[in-house]
Order: sequence, then C-alpha cells, then structure tokens
Amino acid sequence: MTNVQSSLPRLCDAHSRGVSYLRFSVTDRCNLRCVYCRGLGKESVLPHGSLLRYEEILRLVRVFRGLGVGKVRLTGGEPFARRDCAALIMSLRSSFPDLNLRLTSNGTLLRPHIGLLKEARVDAVNLSIDSFDRETFRELTGFDLLDEVVAVLEGLLAAGVRVKVNAVAMRGVTDRQLPSFLEAVTRWPVDVRFIEFMPMGEGTVWDAGRFLPAEEIMRSLGTMAELVPVPDAHADHGPARMYAVPGRQGRFGFITALSNHFCDTCNRLRVTSDGSLRTCLFADTMTPLRGLLRDPAVTDEDLARVIRQALADKPVGADLLKARKETAVARGRMASIGG
Ligand code: SAM
Repeated sequence: MTNVQSSLPRLCDAHSRGVSYLRFSVTDRCNLRCVYCRGLGKESVLPHGSLLRYEEILRLVRVFRGLGVGKVRLTGGEPFARRDCAALIMSLRSSFPDLNLRLTSNGTLLRPHIGLLKEARVDAVNLSIDSFDRETFRELTGFDLLDEVVAVLEGLLAAGVRVKVNAVAMRGVTDRQLPSFLEAVTRWPVDVRFIEFMPMGEGTVWDAGRFLPAEEIMRSLGTMAELVPVPDAHADHGPARMYAVPGRQGRFGFITALSNHFCDTCNRLRVTSDGSLRTCLFADTMTPLRGLLRDPAVTDEDLARVIRQALADKPVGADLLKARKETAVARGRMASIGG
C-alpha cells in the first residue's frame, strides 16, 4: 500500500475548513425502530454485497489518515448488528494504534463486547438513550430494552471506557423528562448531550411541532441545577456546547444543529453504508467510492484525488437546512448516513 501521508498536503475544503474527522456507517441495519430516525413506515436494507467490506473500510481509513484525518467513528444503523463488527474494531486499532477511534451505538447488542472495546482502547462510546423512562424508551425505540442499555452503560464505565449519552430532543418527550436526565448526570460520570431533532431521514416523524430548541432545555435545566459553561478551549466535544453541573458527576451538552448551526467549523465527512462519501449531512450529493475500491486499477492516490475533489464541493449546510425546516426531509436514510 502506498504511503500517501508524506506526499500530500492536509485535507481542506473550499471554505478553508480543515477536515479531520470521518464517520462510517458500517451497516444500515438496526435492531431498533427509533421514531426520529426510521419512522413508522416499512423499510428495506441494503444487500450485504452493497456494504463496504471491512478491508475496504480499513483501506479508506488508511487513505484518509494519509490526508490528515485523525478521528474515526463507527456508527450505523447499529454497528453491532453487523457480524464481526468487533473484529473490525480490533483491526482498526491494530492497524492504527494512535487513531482516535469512537463508536455510536444503541447499546442493546453491546454487552458481550465491553471487554473488547476496552482492549481496543476505544476513545469513547456514544450511547443513544433518548429517555431514562422505561415505557417512553419502549415507545420511542419499539423495544423494552432500557434496562439492558443502562447495564451496558454501567459495564462500560466499570471497564474504564468513556461514555457519552446522546438524546434527540423532542417536544412532548424530552421536555417532560429533564429530571431523569439530571439524575443520570448525578449517578454517572457521563456527558449527556441533547441533539436538536433534525429534519433528516426518510420516514422520520420530524415536524416543526416536535422541534425542541436546545435553548429551551437549557433554560428548564437551569431552574433545576446550576449549569457552568465549559470553555471551548478544552474541547473534545465537537459541536456540543458543554456545561458542568456542580455537585454532579456528569455534564450536559447541547448540539444545536438547527437553532445555532456550526457549519463554519464543520470538520467531518461521512461514508455511508453503501460506500459513498457524503461531505455534508444536509446535502444529498454524494461521491460513490465502493466501485473505485473494487477496481484493481484504482490506486490509493486515485482515491485521495477523488476525495479531494469531493471536498472542494463540501457545502455550508445551514442554508440547505433552513430550506428543509420548512419543507421536506433529506432523501437519505439516517441509518445509512450514520447520523
Ligand atoms: N444505532 C446507533 C445509535 O442508536 O446510536 C447509531 C446510529 S444513529 C443513526 C446515530 C445518531 O444519530 C444517534 O445519536 C441518533 O440519536 C442520531 N439521529 C438519528 N436521527 C436523527 C434526527 N432526525 N435528528 C437528530 N439526531 C438523529
């Protein structure tokens, strides 16, 4: 394999934003049916042959590493719904010992892999827990699995793996449950991050009435506990604005994709489960990489060139998003895009 690290300058887009973070949706399959993501309709999943093979993911990581990408997240769908995801994690770690390697998971299939995540020195696991109330969790996801996810959260912490909790903010749901999120940061040393509900994904139940701005959550939480801003200078929290909660072990974070976008500092790229490069969450334009990866004539340098070209067109997504707020959601499925 050619070493592209030394021969190419760092990856930058046309708006001078550096790109250092890559997310892979390793499968579009998921064992849950979260209303904000998959909706209530029928859905189809990709045939196995359309997914990127693990060696193709490793090769892409190698090429992106050469372009200056230092952080990789595996997401989905549910990463552990794909067979041998654990093997992919180990291969990534052994091939790239200093890679900042992370995972986003619903946690329901994760319990047997806790030891491996520790062994692989995974830098953080983001668990999606949209409610700490068992019945609400069941209504949102379709499954009565909150207890299992909480056991996994505690198992990860006991193993010394850093955990963050992602909660999609929904009016009528999240706003009624803030005391239980406060209890979560009291019980566990975790960052609970509220993600504004985005008009994304075919079949999502998104509508303006369900949108709950982060500001509103922050105001309500502020009546229950003191929130102390964590300076961005200490950032390891991407676009989340973080707040410490004195006297509690955990912190709160707010990801304001709609109410206060962070497109001007966007440093991320996504590879969809069928192997396309998506430079902006809100733009449906994608660059297919799978065919190139399977063409023996295509070298790593060719791939790097294609990636750079795609980067040149990476939009500032806020305007696209503004239009979507009023009208339709993005065409792609979140499970394939990876969130
Ligand atoms: N199955 C994994 C999980 O549940 O975390 C990974 C896939 S999920 C698509 C990745 C992230 O996308 C989750 O944190 C989820 O909360 C978020 N997400 C999905 N649809 C969303 C939407 N419409 N608005 C905001 N966040 C969304």
